[in-house]
Amino acid sequence: MPLVYHPDYSFPFPPRHRFPMEKFARLAAYLRGQNILTPGNCYRPGPCRQQWLTQTHCPEYLQRFYRNTQSDKERRQMNLPWSEGLVKRTFLAPSGTVLTAQLALQHGVACHLAGGTHHAHHDYASGFCILNDLAIAANVLARQNEGLQVLVFDCDVHQGDGTAALLQNEPRAFTCSIHCKQNFPFIKKQSDWDVELPAATQDEAYLDTVRSTLLAAIEQVQPDIVLYDAGVDVFEGDPLGQLRITESGIRQRDNLVLSELKKAQIPVATVIGGGYDDDRATLARRHAIVIEEAQRVFGR
Ligand SMILES: [Zn+2]
Repeated sequence: MPLVYHPDYSFPFPPRHRFPMEKFARLAAYLRGQNILTPGNCYRPGPCRQQWLTQTHCPEYLQRFYRNTQSDKERRQMNLPWSEGLVKRTFLAPSGTVLTAQLALQHGVACHLAGGTHHAHHDYASGFCILNDLAIAANVLARQNEGLQVLVFDCDVHQGDGTAALLQNEPRAFTCSIHCKQNFPFIKKQSDWDVELPAATQDEAYLDTVRSTLLAAIEQVQPDIVLYDAGVDVFEGDPLGQLRITESGIRQRDNLVLSELKKAQIPVATVIGGGYDDDRATLARRHAIVIEEAQRVFGR
């Protein structure tokens, strides 16, 4: 099973910052320890092509971020301290999601050990997201493969507002977001399909919703590939999420999504999405769930 990772995804970063920048390296280390990530299945992306970026984002915005000439307001919206390391990882990660999707088309499944920066908009950052890898990948796929239909299935606890807005006028990409109504962003955008769950929703109701939504979306969209955002901030202990999903519930969710897609013979590319925890080792293990379940379901 192809896994996509780059050692520059994590870089020196304020350790007490709300955004756990070290989680990518910790996830990779954990998966290596489990013998799931090996030299034989690890793919490393190159920096994102300019054309891929400007297809989705405003060129002036990209330049302002690259050159560290953003306004104070833009910096506040980004909510991450600018550094060369941040620039490097920001321009790598979307390329990683594109690569993951391309590998999924070849192999049926592929997992990115990053990705899911779904709050990034055309010309502004939001909620720790600077570039929208899901929208970038959907746009690249649609242009590289004639007639290809993409389904973005976003199960992060927060609405994929940036993806919804960026792909609003792209008929080749269908955006579906299952999120908590009371969570950020407080003014939602309109996805092709939004499913809002009330705060404190628990496993059983959540899993029913995920299953019925996925099956209906497959039926309606008939996708040729699914980009699956397996955010773990639906977890009951997540400081930035208000759902009450257990780790077992997350595992069941990922298993059911991947099993249904395998059954329907639809290639799936997974991204890790959001997840927050001061215990960074535990967080890395939580993000590994989708990759462990992918290996279980696809049996490689
Ligand atoms: Zn989130």
